[in-house]
Amino acid sequence: MSAENGKPSSGVLRRILRSLGQSDRRLLLLSAGMILLAKLCLAAAPRISGQITDMLADMAQGGTLDGTAFFRNCLLTAVLFLFGYGADGLVGRNMVRISERLVRQLRVRCQRKLCAATLGFLDAHPTGDLLSRVSNDMQSLAASLSSTVASLLGHAVLLAALLVIMLLTNPLLALIYVAVIPAGSALLLLIMKQTNRLFRRQNEALGRLNAIVSDTYGNHLLVKAYGCEEARQKAFEAANQTYYETYVKSRFFSGFTIPLSVIVSAVSFALICIAGGAMLIRGSLTIGEFQAFLFYGNMISAPLSSLSSSVNSIQTGLTSAERIYELLDAPEEPAGTPTHTPGSEERAGGIEFSHVQFGYRPGEPLLQDISFSISPGQICAVAGPSGAGKTTLINLLMRFYELWGGSILIDGVDARELPRAELRKIFGLVLQDTWLFDGTIAENIGYGRPGADMEEIISAAKAAQCHSIIEKLPEGYNTRVGGEKSILSEGEKQLVSIARAILSEPRILILDEATSQVDTRTEALIAQALANIMKGRTAIIIAHRLYTIRNASQIVFMTDGSIREIGSHEELMARKGLYCAMYESGSAE
Ligand code: ADP
Repeated sequence: MSAENGKPSSGVLRRILRSLGQSDRRLLLLSAGMILLAKLCLAAAPRISGQITDMLADMAQGGTLDGTAFFRNCLLTAVLFLFGYGADGLVGRNMVRISERLVRQLRVRCQRKLCAATLGFLDAHPTGDLLSRVSNDMQSLAASLSSTVASLLGHAVLLAALLVIMLLTNPLLALIYVAVIPAGSALLLLIMKQTNRLFRRQNEALGRLNAIVSDTYGNHLLVKAYGCEEARQKAFEAANQTYYETYVKSRFFSGFTIPLSVIVSAVSFALICIAGGAMLIRGSLTIGEFQAFLFYGNMISAPLSSLSSSVNSIQTGLTSAERIYELLDAPEEPAGTPTHTPGSEERAGGIEFSHVQFGYRPGEPLLQDISFSISPGQICAVAGPSGAGKTTLINLLMRFYELWGGSILIDGVDARELPRAELRKIFGLVLQDTWLFDGTIAENIGYGRPGADMEEIISAAKAAQCHSIIEKLPEGYNTRVGGEKSILSEGEKQLVSIARAILSEPRILILDEATSQVDTRTEALIAQALANIMKGRTAIIIAHRLYTIRNASQIVFMTDGSIREIGSHEELMARKGLYCAMYESGSAE
């Protein structure tokens, strides 16, 4: 992708234009027209004010002053300057509106995409990278659109108009600018290239610095436990030193840009004075034209020095836009063609895996020909060593990923024929990594069933054995949880997520075996809560400790993506196969 090598492609500009609303496209066109007109006015104004000077000089030498023409020129100069500079304010306001409306809309689309993107895409992109697309890249796109586009266009138009008008007025004097200014600009460009390289290195060093700080403080227990303070400190100091050096160097070089522009305009001013003065004496130049040229000298150096920095800033903005559009192009979970409308059929909770094949990466099959079934109300445990494919079975059941072959039937209906939202409502998930959103406990439980009232939430919490724990919290159900630091212990969080699953009244419960890092009292509470929720429901348990699944009605034992043994605990023990060996070795997995 071209954004990765730092050069945005031209297609992104078209996409930005297409993303703008109809009225914003019109506003953009209007603004561009205004810029064009304003800069032409600015280029013409010195010429007219030069004519005023010529009239006055003529009068001083005994000529007569045409009062009407004099006042008309005065008025025209004032209007041209006023509109020329005043339009900048109006255009600036328009551009801020256009760019902010664009990023507001893009942010919404990104957020929607993040919810709809396939897990494969999300897995492949670090969270920090996605976050930075939605925040930093949006900001840089907006900044570049709102300020730089208008100034780039304005300066380019002004530069062209000034050169044309100067060449028309006096080609010889114009040539002085044409010779001096590009030489100065080339020097300026050289400095800017150097500073840009340093700015990039400075930003990288800052990124590293931030990463070290957040890593160190985010994992402060780990850092202390392993005594890595010294190493972390050294890494921090190294990044800090690089940041310091690149910052000082970049400021040193960028400090030359303003003096250099001043020198360029001073040199051209001096040359114009000498050459223009000589022409004035010889009578080939009027005093008004001479004055206009001095004015042009002032006007021309500003757009030249800012043109190159504008180009850079626009390039950054376009690269950001490309990163945003890449996110917006992320593949979405296919909607499929749901042919089955959920209705009055018996919601029993039977599951059948039939010749299921799947892999996360093309050409690397993981599950080969998985077939087994779970009867309604049965508790089925999936066991096997780490990496056997247990979690993958659940990912497929929930249709987080698409099958390569075979099918999964839920109560006799192919999962692909069910609308995805309906399919996911069938399941209640209680995972080992409990996730609580930033919000109150009541809200966290309430996610189980949108629209549930407080009474239902409390009764779910009671069934999940966490009502009395929640009541003891300072703000009860209104206590805020989630985020990095939570006042709930791991086991208590597990109970809250069980309450959420209970509230959702799932047809089938999926359980990643409860965490082992809880105290015995909480473990007993969790066991009771799970017994409550499993009552009368089909449940699939991903087993990490074999001794906890002895009572399951069926155990599916997997290794390397294939089912090796299937049966009850007693049957598998009697078979004296892999399960039995693993059970007897007392291995955790
Ligand atoms: P288990 O739950 O039995 O420990 P998993 O089903 O999580 O095993 O993983 C099975 C294999 O698939 C492992 O080799 C794992 O590295 C790989 N895997 C799991 N999730 C992903 C993923 N999102 N992308 C790519 N490979 C994955």
